[in-house]
Amino acid sequence: MAFGTTAIVAGLVWMWWGMRVFFGRAPKAFGWWLIGGHAVMFGGIYAFVAETHFRVISFAVAVAVSVALIVVEVWRGSGTPLTVARRLVVFAYAVTLAPIIVRAAILLGTGTRMTPLTDSTFNVIMLYLLPMAGGLLSSVGTLLMYFERTIAEKDYIANHDELTRLYNRRAVIERGMQTLAAAARSNRAVSILLIDIDHFKSVNDTLGHEAGDRALSAVATTLSAACRRSDIIGRHGGEEFCIVCADTTAEEAMHLGERLLRAVEAITPPPGLRRGLSISIGIATATDEQGWDALLQQADRALYAAKNAGRNRAVAA
Ligand code: GH3
Ligand code: MG
Ligand code: MG
Repeated sequence: MAFGTTAIVAGLVWMWWGMRVFFGRAPKAFGWWLIGGHAVMFGGIYAFVAETHFRVISFAVAVAVSVALIVVEVWRGSGTPLTVARRLVVFAYAVTLAPIIVRAAILLGTGTRMTPLTDSTFNVIMLYLLPMAGGLLSSVGTLLMYFERTIAEKDYIANHDELTRLYNRRAVIERGMQTLAAAARSNRAVSILLIDIDHFKSVNDTLGHEAGDRALSAVATTLSAACRRSDIIGRHGGEEFCIVCADTTAEEAMHLGERLLRAVEAITPPPGLRRGLSISIGIATATDEQGWDALLQQADRALYAAKNAGRNRAVAA
């Protein structure tokens, strides 16, 4: 008996540790105290006290504490809103814990001890059905949590650029088209900014490709920090970026462009580089039902004009 219940508590503690690791937190040593504490309490009572009530209650307390620890981890997650799978796991552990608490409560209140041998419906539900359902549901829920994570990771990889962590070209186009369609319906302006790093080839040629990658990341981070949260920013190609701004007129886009130019100028240049980093920006604003390709083409022409006019500047189409 002592061994069996300790195995159950150890299993729950193990689950708690697993949940912590799953959400990127280190397992806590408190788990050992819980397992050891239960083994000593339960084993001690078993050896020296004939009365079984204490055992039921000691077990209920150990299970309640470990289940509470698991539920807290699942509820916290990694700071993201509760998902279906995480709700299911919380529910499953509640189902697992409920009969153990009820058993202890009945024992404390009335002195009656539920035994597996008493063949009443209530007993069967409390001692078999709920614990089994809880175990099954928590397994399914845990597996679903893993699937949810896998799908989210795949989704992230499919839509993000590995080097800069911005959206990739595919994701920017998809979101850009959605933004354009929504803006056309509500008659609002959408602006896009096409950005290209100036003389980037010379960064690679002078410092090497790895330093080039770092400079590219630095520019990406700077651009991203200078945008609004609602702006969609992505890496459009090699050292080109695209920003889609909903609800933004040509004038407002030009303000943003100026801000981006200053922000990139302020980046500390990589050591060994003769001149600082700068960008050129082409801006296009959709006012009627203009398609994505036409808008991008306009921005591209404006970018070309910015390059020709001497770089480190923004030009509106
Ligand atoms: P411009 O001012 O006319 O834009 O000059 P530029 O040198 O930036 O233009 P060009 O298109 O000739 O060169 C772009 C360079 O960007 C060439 C390519 O090696 C570099 N590049 C593109 N993608 C990456 C990348 O992921 N990492 C690194 N390190 N370099 C990249
Ligand atoms: Mg360039
Ligand atoms: Mg380029």
